[in-house]
Amino acid sequence: MVPPRLSDVLQGGAKGTVREKGAIELDDLDGVHLALKNPEAVAEGTRVQVNSRGSACTSLEEVKRRKREKKAEKFLKARERRQKRKEARQEAEAFWDQYDIPFEYDVAIKGRRSGLLRGSSGTGRDSSTVEHLYVLEAFEDGRLSRPEGVYLCNNEANLRFDDGERRQDENGESFIPPVTCQTCLDRMERWKWRTKSEGRDEKY
Ligand SMILES: [Zn+2]
Repeated sequence: MVPPRLSDVLQGGAKGTVREKGAIELDDLDGVHLALKNPEAVAEGTRVQVNSRGSACTSLEEVKRRKREKKAEKFLKARERRQKRKEARQEAEAFWDQYDIPFEYDVAIKGRRSGLLRGSSGTGRDSSTVEHLYVLEAFEDGRLSRPEGVYLCNNEANLRFDDGERRQDENGESFIPPVTCQTCLDRMERWKWRTKSEGRDEKY
């Protein structure tokens, strides 16, 4: 007969001690001995935790080791995430350091309906989404001119996302990501600082 409290005790991660012939004496249920699947695997006297089905057990030492490992893994993953965010901010800084753009701007994406559909990221982004330079102030620079409130490359957009793209660095501070649209990048060439002999103060 199965004691009525047994399943409750097992659900809670029951602990016990391995006795003769692999029988497990549970701490919380007097007189109940569970038969082990692998009696030879755990020595008599070993403190164990029984799985929720009551079919197998793991030594408490092993349970602790796994917990420690999980914690360490979590810690490493968090550190990796922070490192990635830090690198992303540094890359963005290095990117913007190349330019001296003579008007107010932001970075924006062109939304795609597919990116808003059920099962998508819900952000209007998809794998081919790129970041564009968004012109916030009308300008004229030689043969290139734009009114305010347009994308630098062209103003065709399925959905407009002109709020400005932001990323978070490792400290939760937001930063403007680099432009990744090739047409925008080509047009932005003219605002790159001269890197040759003239030094940083001269422009093309
Ligand atoms: Zn663009």
